[in-house]
Amino acid sequence: MTKLRLAIVGAGPAGIYAADILLKAEKQFDVSIDLFEQLPAPYGLVRYGVAPDHPRIKGIITALRDVLDTGNIRLFGNVYYGRDVMLDDLKEHYNAVIFSTGAIKDAPLDIPGIELPGSYGAADFVSWYDGHPDFPREWPLDATSAAVIGNGNVALDVARILSKHADDLLPTDIPSNVYEGLRQSPITDVHVFGRRGPMQVKFTPLELRELGELDDVDMVVYEEDFDYDDASRAAIESNKQIMVIDRIFRKWRTEPRSGASRRLHLHFFAGPVRVLGEDRADGFRYERTEPDGAGGVRGTGEFREVSVQAVYRAVGYFGSALDGIPFDKRRGVIPNREGQVIDDRDEPVNGVYATGWIKRGPVGLIGHTKSDAMETVRHLMNDQANWWSPAHPEEDAIVILLKERGVDFTNLQGWQNLDEHERALGAAQERERIKVVPRDEMIAASRG
Ligand SMILES: Cc1cc2nc3c(=O)[nH]c(=O)nc-3n(C[C@H](O)[C@H](O)[C@H](O)COP(=O)(O)OP(=O)(O)OC[C@H]3O[C@@H](n4cnc5c(N)ncnc54)[C@H](O)[C@@H]3O)c2cc1C
Repeated sequence: MTKLRLAIVGAGPAGIYAADILLKAEKQFDVSIDLFEQLPAPYGLVRYGVAPDHPRIKGIITALRDVLDTGNIRLFGNVYYGRDVMLDDLKEHYNAVIFSTGAIKDAPLDIPGIELPGSYGAADFVSWYDGHPDFPREWPLDATSAAVIGNGNVALDVARILSKHADDLLPTDIPSNVYEGLRQSPITDVHVFGRRGPMQVKFTPLELRELGELDDVDMVVYEEDFDYDDASRAAIESNKQIMVIDRIFRKWRTEPRSGASRRLHLHFFAGPVRVLGEDRADGFRYERTEPDGAGGVRGTGEFREVSVQAVYRAVGYFGSALDGIPFDKRRGVIPNREGQVIDDRDEPVNGVYATGWIKRGPVGLIGHTKSDAMETVRHLMNDQANWWSPAHPEEDAIVILLKERGVDFTNLQGWQNLDEHERALGAAQERERIKVVPRDEMIAASRG
């Protein structure tokens, strides 16, 4: 039987689903999969992006763990593609590679003042509160008022975590440094700004409704934003999600404030213009917009300012280029045709495939990475004639190479040890888990 030795780079949901689909579908080949992950823990943004107070979504980890536990996949944690293993190494040991490296950086927002101290990327803040080892342990939470630019789920995650009282996050897996940081935050007002109207938002009703359920936080919306145009009225009638969003807003528009110690303001028709401040951010200027009649908005020439000491831009994520692999600098993805990587002449790059956010761009939920993976795996299986012919396909050859290079890699047992360790830390404080953040501590816990 033909043997398919496959490398997958990136152990987020996309990479793990790709492994699962291949193992379940495969009847013609004898498949062996090695999964390389730069962190000592798998699950990508499910562990390091999904907000800690979304345990139902974090629960997807259980299904991903079942895939890893089938015993057919080897995990090489703490191995960075582009430094510890290179494309030539993969060609020497495997028939093909799937890149599923996702995205971890903020997309740029090109407005004056965005580089000022006190102006932050949402992705960096998310990485801090979700305990990503490659980000600083401290986060400057000294603002009493903050602006969040963006109208997607990540903007609402950031606004919620900023407004929520730290004790209400204690039942989650937040690391101790994050709890301590949030506990000392003096914040009273968080302002979220969207360029378009309340019926053109990108967030989901569930994320929106949740804001109204925060303890000791009043929702503030502004009546001037709810003078609906024809397109908005049509959207409410034709789209169930928008209808629910409208219903949530109606409640907040009529509800009296409770006198909570914190307020979460939602501003619409507010296009970002600049972050104000000399040496650090001390305000945010925006231009009032209005519907353009074609589903978009246009500027009205009316400028407004709000005084804030921190500005968070949540305008999307952006993928990173990988050594030796084509990259679309404009979109932040690996150029591909249905997962088959293509070069700058549009020709397929033999043996190289992509899936998940690095294939499609950083939009869509975890579930979408499954259909992505199906498409990519289908191409991989139909493409046998173009696979690489590795000189050293034996399973220990890559292990020997990593050891020779002094790579301090971890494995699946290592992750299980770390997982148990985090649960034990949590149990001591009657919490389900407390995440370990520093990489050396993660590796030490992996060693048991
Ligand atoms: C803030 C935030 C909140 C979200 N909340 C939700 C939610 O509530 N519900 C939902 O369904 N979806 C949510 N999502 C979307 C979801 O996280 C993504 O759809 C999904 O994680 C994308 O999967 P992926 O495997 O393509 O990428 P990722 O999850 O990013 O995984 C990529 C993996 O590759 C690894 N990697 C990267 N570079 C290298 C390298 N050079 N060498 C080795 N390994 C590497 C990374 O460490 C990572 O583990 C959220 C996303 C964000 C950013």
